Parts: sequence; C-alpha cells; structure tokens
Amino acid sequence: MNNFKNLRGTVDLLPEELIKWQNIEKLIVDQLFRASVKEIRTPIIEMTELFMRGIGEATDVVSKEMYTFLDRGERSCTLRPEGTASVVRALIQNGISSKPSQKLWYMGPMFRYERPQAGRQRQFHQLGVEFVGYESVRSDIEIITLAWDILEKLGIKELNLEINTLGDQTDRSNFKDAFLKWLEVNKDSLDIESQKRIDKNPLRILDTKNVQTKSILEDAPRLFDFLSEKSIERYLIIKEKLKLLKIPFIENFNLVRGLDYYTHTAFEITSGALGSQSTVCGGGRYDNLISQMGGTETPAIGFAIGLERLILLSGKDLEQSRETDIYIVNKGFHAETLAMDLSRKLRNYDLKTELDLSGGSFSKQFKKANKIKSKSIIVIGDDEASNQEFIIRLFNNKNSENQEQKIAIEDSIKLEEWINKNLLFKKTSEK
Ligand code: ATP
Ligand code: MG
Repeated sequence: MNNFKNLRGTVDLLPEELIKWQNIEKLIVDQLFRASVKEIRTPIIEMTELFMRGIGEATDVVSKEMYTFLDRGERSCTLRPEGTASVVRALIQNGISSKPSQKLWYMGPMFRYERPQAGRQRQFHQLGVEFVGYESVRSDIEIITLAWDILEKLGIKELNLEINTLGDQTDRSNFKDAFLKWLEVNKDSLDIESQKRIDKNPLRILDTKNVQTKSILEDAPRLFDFLSEKSIERYLIIKEKLKLLKIPFIENFNLVRGLDYYTHTAFEITSGALGSQSTVCGGGRYDNLISQMGGTETPAIGFAIGLERLILLSGKDLEQSRETDIYIVNKGFHAETLAMDLSRKLRNYDLKTELDLSGGSFSKQFKKANKIKSKSIIVIGDDEASNQEFIIRLFNNKNSENQEQKIAIEDSIKLEEWINKNLLFKKTSEK
C-alpha cells in the first residue's frame, strides 16, 4: 500500500460524475457546431513568455498563479492558465490570423495556483470561444448570445449578464491619466492590495472586492465620461440590440479588464445560485492583443466559461446515463465464443450493449442484467451454441414471452427486425 494522493486543487473525475460532464460537453459542442464555430486544440504547455506577454505581467494570473518550471533544456515552460494567448499564438504562427472570420472554440484543462474552494481549483476546465477578425457590433452580440444560450440550455438558474464598455485605447489612456491623478490624492484610503496596483495595473482597482475601497471609488472619475462619441454610440447599439433580442442585462461600470489590449465590450455572466465564486463566464473584446503579440492588427472578441462551476449549477437531469439496450448472457466454451462474435456485430448499431464476462451461473448473469435495468437480453448456452442460434427477449417486460425469439447466428436480417421493432436504434456503421 502506498499513500499517493492527487495534488491539492486537482480532482479525479470518476465514471459516475463524468456522465454529467459528458452530457454537458455534448450539449455545448452540438450548440457550437450548429453555430459554425470550429474547434482548435493547442498544447497545454507553452513558453512562459507567451503568457507574460499575452496576459500581462501585472495580472494576478501571471504574477502569482502560474505553474512555471524549467524543462531539461533549461527553457521556462508554463502550464496554460487560460486559452486566449495560445489560440492567438497558434493563429499567428500558422499564418491564419490575417485571414478574416475565424470562429473558434476550445475546451480543456487550465492551471492556476489558487486557494482551492468550491468552484475554484488549481486544475480546472474552461470552454472558450474566440471570434477573430470580427469587428462589428453584431459579433459582440453573437458572442454574448452564444454564451447566454449555452448557459440557459443547461438549465442554469438565476443568470445575470453584466456588461460594460472600455472604449478604445485613446479613451482609456485619457481616463487613466485622470484616474491616476485621483489615485495619487486618495491613495491612503485604499486597501493595501489596491495601493499595490496603482503602479502596475491601476484599472484593475475598479474591480476590487474590498467594500471600503468600493465606496471610496464612487467618487473617482468614471471611464464612461472619457469615451469618445463613437465608442458611446457602439455601446448604445449593443444595449439596444440586447434589448431587442430580449437578453436581460445590467450595466456594471466597474467591470474592467486590466490590460491595454482590451477594448469596448466587456461582460460577465454570474449566477445567484453559486456562492461567492459566482462568475460562470467572462468575456470581452481584445482588438489590440493580436498586433501586440506580433500579428497584423486584427479585431477579436471572446469568452471563457468555467466548467466546474457549470457542473455545480446544472440540474439533475444531466446526471442521467443512457440505459443498456442489450445484455448478453452466455455460458459454455462454444457459447462464449459465439457471444463475443455477436457482441461485435451489435456494435454496428447505435445500441448500448454489455457482454457478460463473468463466466458465472445463468441466474447470476440474469441478476446483473436486472440490476443494470437492461432493456433486453440475449441468452446463449450450450444448446443454443450447438444449434448456432441465440435467444433474444425484452427483459422485465410482462409480455416478454411474446417478444422472445430464437434467431440463427447468421440471420442478421431477423436480428435487425427484432431490434427495430423492440428497441429504438440507429444503425451507425458497418465494416
Ligand atoms: P475569478 O474572479 O472567479 O477568479 P477570473 O476573472 O480569474 O475569475 P477568467 O480568467 O475570466 O476568470 O476565467 C473565466 C472563467 O473561468 C471564470 O468565470 C470561472 O468560471 C472560471 N475559472 C477561473 N479560475 C478558476 C479556477 N481556479 N477554478 C475553477 N474555475 C475557474
Ligand atoms: Mg481568478
């Protein structure tokens, strides 16, 4: 016996739990497919530099939360803490970023060294969507509605969409000057954490959770007052379109992203049904990131959803697994070989089947079929084997006698007819 344990902040996802994960992932992937969003997969490990540049050294993620180490070739590597930087790198590197109109999604594990608690892990999973090469207001709306609809389809309750606008770079640098002046005067009234941000990442102070700092900030200059007419116009159209599409939202002027490459729309979706880690989805426009990372100037907008929080929020109906359609009871040397053969054939249909491998008595095998509530069973014993046939019948059904049938092993047509009549199925593939 050893005492190995998983690392703090990581979890094993066991088969029963994974049913919910798989159901949720399927629903998401189907929804994205229907919206013509294509998948992209990038490595989980990247050069540390990429995240320093792509997320920003002043952020908590880069300064405190990254899993960074030297590999055997003395290169600094980092387990990805988020997906956008890698997607942008992959697009630039593969010469795709200059082509317009990329609608992309990714899903997978991310790593951040944080204090683990409900809905917060060190290895967690995100679904991200990035629209690259899209500038129009309608792309902002499509991004927001995609995120919103996924969450609604998963039956998540008490959803709130919060939106804000950060304007363009000029708007923000005008605001930043005024804000820094205000901060200089009010520095001592702020909490320590916010004070530290003044030099590194002042915009992020607006996002503080400290109650006292929050109330002091009420008197600070507002980013909104520094927006150009054009930026305001853009924001007003977004609000109008959301109203027309009947997507409820609230405006949150403190919703900021601390880095210079973020522009215009920023949004978050929270759920009142989650405790303190209430944000399920964060997103926004990043028109300056791709050029900042060495690509040609390309507008883009995206979001990321935390899957662990979706799991906590989604309903019981997503915990249901599909029932077994056919359980194959078999005993005896020849019977067992025939059963294997038949079991392989049955995998040509969209049926969930299970071949009993126990070699136990017929009654034990029937009990197992009963326990897992299989819809039907196939029975092959020595008698059936010597006749090259098997018995198939609905299980636990009052009329099962009527539906019982002997079928010759070679008679696929008769088998198909029985399945067709008694089980709902789709043929998947034939060799
Ligand atoms: P938070 O304020 O909760 O730390 P964040 O601003 O760091 O969130 P983003 O980087 O925008 O989060 O990531 C998008 C989403 O990923 C979050 O809204 C959340 O649902 C999820 N997420 C982020 N960090 C974690 C984590 N450590 N464990 C689980 N989910 C996470
Ligand atoms: Mg965080």
